[in-house]
Amino acid sequence: MSDRNRAVAFHGINNMQVDTLDFPKLEMPDGRKAPHGVILKIVATNICGSDLHIYRGSFPVPDGMVMGHEMTGEVIEVGEDVEFLHEGDLVSVPFNVACGRCRNCRAGRTDVCETANPKLACAAYGFNLGDFQGGQADYLFVPYADFQLLRFPDKDQAMEKILELAVLSDILPTAFHGLMEAGAKPGSTVYLAGAGPVGRCGAAAARLLGASCIIVGDHDPKRLELVRKAGCETINLSEDVPLTDQIEAVLGEPMVDCAVDYVGPEAHGLGKEAEQMQPAAAINQVIDATRAGGATGVIGVYGPDPIAETKAEQEGTFPIDFGKAWIKSPRITAGQAPIMRYNRQLMMAILWDRMPWLRDMLNPRVISLDEAPKAYEAFDKGEDVKYIIDPHGMIAA
Ligand code: NAD
Ligand code: ZN
Ligand code: ZN
Repeated sequence: MSDRNRAVAFHGINNMQVDTLDFPKLEMPDGRKAPHGVILKIVATNICGSDLHIYRGSFPVPDGMVMGHEMTGEVIEVGEDVEFLHEGDLVSVPFNVACGRCRNCRAGRTDVCETANPKLACAAYGFNLGDFQGGQADYLFVPYADFQLLRFPDKDQAMEKILELAVLSDILPTAFHGLMEAGAKPGSTVYLAGAGPVGRCGAAAARLLGASCIIVGDHDPKRLELVRKAGCETINLSEDVPLTDQIEAVLGEPMVDCAVDYVGPEAHGLGKEAEQMQPAAAINQVIDATRAGGATGVIGVYGPDPIAETKAEQEGTFPIDFGKAWIKSPRITAGQAPIMRYNRQLMMAILWDRMPWLRDMLNPRVISLDEAPKAYEAFDKGEDVKYIIDPHGMIAA
């Protein structure tokens, strides 16, 4: 075992670097001992659209903060209060850090754990949310391990499907949560805003759920092609036609049962306005696209953005067309996804080959830690891949 830990760290806007740090300890960020924790040797750790908010400067974090919240790893050290995990286990880490003991955790709301971050009811790795080190690294400390970690039943079988299982730590359960909040079920018609990795997982999950007409909107033809090839309908938002007209052209009706925003406030406008950032474009489009009595999920992360153009957006206030929506009795749910609510079932669906289309839709690309800074650059420009960092060369091998 090594005594050092190489990791991708934030060093200012558009500047990620690989730093060498100390090996992690079984210790909480404030220095308390954490016998309930484990140390993982990271097997897969992905770059996410949420990391881009940090990269672009919209989500401020301290200089040197280690990035990454989508980890899969092998247990190499076990705290003395851990009962159910052992050295050698291969596990998926939910991106929400959650204690398992507070009122919200006990109700299954690990997205809003009340204790893991003393400043706010929400904690995550690799964000300024509780000071937990990120996982784009060789090694990682995970607290509350018995409660948090999802163990894969068979290591060899899991390694064969590792590229799909790697998205259980965030984007697949997150995308699934968006559909649940939008009430998706067999036969539902759905509109999914965004064909980034999260939107593509949404399309894959909508197929698993048996949705009927699955329409994905984006401006990026290469990203849309990945979902079209997997049997979904697509809408190119660069075309200057109102969204509900484009939905009607596909579906025969202007609105769907379920719509989900997989974009957030870095959204672009429609048609002639496609080059412009319009922070409320995606959320207004999904509300617009939802039929009266339907439901809308908001997975895109909305919050104060210090580098936004207007004072309202800097404060995190967005012009949502609520007056138009109100009469449709809207049901809109937002927030971080409680990964643990879905990750076991989705793991089983992957292991039993119930989502054979997931891999092509994701379009995963495996890279080393040293390639990560360049991958941030390419992903920021909209590359149609999902980057999976393989720090120890365990996937490639
Ligand atoms: P991404 O940046 O790769 O993808 C966003 C896509 O949206 C891009 O392809 C872009 O072209 C497209 N887009 C821009 N404007 C649009 C519009 N008006 N309508 C439709 N598409 C539009 O990011 P990603 O990795 O796919 O993540 C998507 C969002 O999900 C991010 O905001 C991320 O932070 C968020 N997220 C939330 C959670 C959660 O728990 N709530 C978890 C993970 C990710
Ligand atoms: Zn993520
Ligand atoms: Zn808790």
